Amino acid sequence: MFGRPGLSSLMQAAELGSFDVLIAEAPDRISRDIADLAHIHKTLRFRQVEMNCVNGGALDTVQIGMYGVVGQMQREEGAKKVKRGMVGVVRSGRNPGGKAYGYRPVLGKKGELEIVEDEAATVRRIFELYSTGFAPRTIAATLNAEGIPAPRGLRWNGSTINGNGQRGNGILRNPIYAGKLIWNRVHMVKDPSTGRRISRVNPESEYEEIDAQHLRVVDQSLFDAVQARKEATGGPRPRDVPKSKRLLSGLLRCGCCGGGMALIGVDRSGPRIQCSTYRESRSCTNGARYYIEKLERQVLDSLRIQFADTAIIDEYVKAYREERRKIEAEARRNRSATEKGLADAKAGITRIVERIAKGLIDDDEAAALLQPLRQERDRLERDLAASEAPSNVIELHPQAVKRFRENVEQLADIVATKTGTVDVGAASAFRQLVAAVIVHPRQKGDPYTIQIKGYLSSLIDSTLSAKSLVAEEGFEPPTQGL
Ligand SMILES: [Zn+2]
Repeated sequence: MFGRPGLSSLMQAAELGSFDVLIAEAPDRISRDIADLAHIHKTLRFRQVEMNCVNGGALDTVQIGMYGVVGQMQREEGAKKVKRGMVGVVRSGRNPGGKAYGYRPVLGKKGELEIVEDEAATVRRIFELYSTGFAPRTIAATLNAEGIPAPRGLRWNGSTINGNGQRGNGILRNPIYAGKLIWNRVHMVKDPSTGRRISRVNPESEYEEIDAQHLRVVDQSLFDAVQARKEATGGPRPRDVPKSKRLLSGLLRCGCCGGGMALIGVDRSGPRIQCSTYRESRSCTNGARYYIEKLERQVLDSLRIQFADTAIIDEYVKAYREERRKIEAEARRNRSATEKGLADAKAGITRIVERIAKGLIDDDEAAALLQPLRQERDRLERDLAASEAPSNVIELHPQAVKRFRENVEQLADIVATKTGTVDVGAASAFRQLVAAVIVHPRQKGDPYTIQIKGYLSSLIDSTLSAKSLVAEEGFEPPTQGL
């Protein structure tokens, strides 16, 4: 919802009660994010604004849930497509975005770079100074003193040269100077609480690398000498980034503050995680440490119990359709009540007109009596016309059901291997089902209490708050969610 001024002013207008019905071409024009769509629907319902779709009629909560799931899937698919396109650019030896110091785009050849010779000379000097023992900060001060322009017109500083270990974005770490293009080092995600886009580091296994010797400005022995000195001087190094993706990477949340959980090291029983907020600022009180492998086993065990049989999906679908039928039956009941009200209003009008004709009441009196009845008649006629629109019931999208089933089947494979590290396909299947794993605070010696927040439950959860699944209980039976 953030960063969409049109939507913001729409929501403001809704607050002010400026309209009664919202008509959209399709729900995904309002939002493709499940949480946003649900929030908008909830807010509008509270303001008694009806959400309508051009081809779907009025939308109820279950439909919103369904559209949300399908919309989110499409959006994630769209992001993957963009990424695939970029991978193609790297494979063909062009530059997928961002301009490194020392290069400029070749005019008329989109994505291609060429060396800017005086900048390249500065790069070589930086590598030489560093390899002979100068600190990045000293090098920066030297360049500033000489008035050499820094990248993006700023002043040189230590981090321009040294960069950040994980991101590998400093000059000394940039493999482009050794004639290598790397892409997919970071990916952008939208922070749901601020709507701002922030970058996250990808595992090294997802990097795309290609030889581009025409872009080399530092010879290999100097480049290697610099990397060797960087390793010797410590600090996080790119090769420390784990190669294999852990099943729960990025999904773990602190039950106390809602923040992420980060690996803090390994002891005899394995790697452990802790609340990042606690570690960084102590502004969270949850200082407990958890063995990541134990958490992974617990999550997989509870999902295995839940999805022992993919027939459970049929249960969900069945429950969804029953709910739909219930809503339609209610609509039919409402319709007959409306028809009766309309007949009453019309009869009332007829009676008053007859009394006017017989001279029993005067015009002023008649007008006062007629006006509310006419309003009532018009309102009921409008209601009836709206409900007469062809019942275009949105069925569960067969494609969505199919994908859920496939994801659940892949999940069975992860469960069978019972390890924390998984291949990319299985990990993404897992991520289609599990939105977050919340780890609750604990005292030393207490068992781990976790909650699994699943996407599947939002298919049928009529309140649409991501239903939490307590590990010991697994997903609740579908009928309880309705
Ligand atoms: Zn915390």
